[in-house]
Amino acid sequence: MKMNGIGHPQIIGHPHGHGLGKIIDYNENPYIVIWEVTRACQLKCVHCRADAQTEADPRELSTKEGLNLIDQIYEMNNPMLVFTGGDCMMREDLFELADYAVKKGMRVSMTPSATANVTKEKMARAKEVGLSRWGFSLDGPTPEIHDHFRGTPGSFDLTLEKIKYLNELNMPLQINTVISRYNYDHLEEMAKLVGEMKAVMWYIFLLVPTGRGQLEACITPAEHEKVFRWLYELSKTAPYDIKTTAAQHYRRVVLQQKMRENKIDKSDIKYEDTMTMDQSKMIDGLKRAPKGVNDGNGFAFVSHIGDVFPSGLLPLTGGNIRETPLAEIYRESKVFKDLRQPDNYKGKCGVCEYRTICGGSRSRTYAVTGDYMESEPFCVYIPLAMRSKDTTATV
Ligand code: SF4
Repeated sequence: MKMNGIGHPQIIGHPHGHGLGKIIDYNENPYIVIWEVTRACQLKCVHCRADAQTEADPRELSTKEGLNLIDQIYEMNNPMLVFTGGDCMMREDLFELADYAVKKGMRVSMTPSATANVTKEKMARAKEVGLSRWGFSLDGPTPEIHDHFRGTPGSFDLTLEKIKYLNELNMPLQINTVISRYNYDHLEEMAKLVGEMKAVMWYIFLLVPTGRGQLEACITPAEHEKVFRWLYELSKTAPYDIKTTAAQHYRRVVLQQKMRENKIDKSDIKYEDTMTMDQSKMIDGLKRAPKGVNDGNGFAFVSHIGDVFPSGLLPLTGGNIRETPLAEIYRESKVFKDLRQPDNYKGKCGVCEYRTICGGSRSRTYAVTGDYMESEPFCVYIPLAMRSKDTTATV
């Protein structure tokens, strides 16, 4: 998926309420599955994970295979389903697939590219089918910044025009933004714009240097920390929800801040083995912190040709659904099983007290170090276990 469509899956949000009170064992079932329905796309985003092409691959999953995939996903405790690309609008049977999934009782979202393919009629059709949310990418508050990032002049204006249609249709809107060197200095303006667009969710993605995303475009570890603290403060007043992807350490920052604000001692936190509540809460009245979704751990990505990855940004497949059932790949393949063992992570992530709710981005770790079990390279936190006794920091 590309960043629009997700590079990382542009995960289209974890809709409100989904998973609330639902116990999910990530060893058995994912919380969310992203399906890259096609790799065809007309944009040329500089950070594109998929290195998207203008034409669909002839090996792309057929409608029949797609419907079967939806059945398999549903059977895994009905996780959230997101259609991404490429540009999912380039797929002619898109609404047939969406309709099928929604009628089964699944929560379906999509992240099409803002191109001429997205017409008001198609948006109305999506609403009619019962799509939960529509996500558009906006990576800068001005045409200069956004269009450079998207590699397509005119993309900013086109996106705003399409958003106007969504607002007219009252379709819940999610804005997806990739934070990188290109827009780091413009986040306040972006936050304001997201509010003006009447978005219900701002989905922040921290760049992973893979596909067209380059290392030098990533912000520094200290800047990550600054962004997370700023986001947490923003989340208290913003008229929209804020969620992140490829930013697992944002959860650590949120938990730290909540512990400070509620005067909860760190040693009182009970880290859950399952996801038992809305993850955005991070901690409940019983001081339970839910297990965090991470690549291959509550999360699966199915490519346009049926390869199953722990994430759209971690290019090591656990198998292909044309040969092996999705559940078997998710539960049994080595890469997925490894990723669900935070105790085995190397370096500081492996001994970090936040490893079950955070664990660092396994995709970024792999992209930077070549080893998905290594430590998150863009986290400044020093776990308690690694501090010398005279260190005074408390959280
Ligand atoms: S050290 Fe690793 S597990 Fe701990 S907060 Fe940082 S990224 Fe998360």
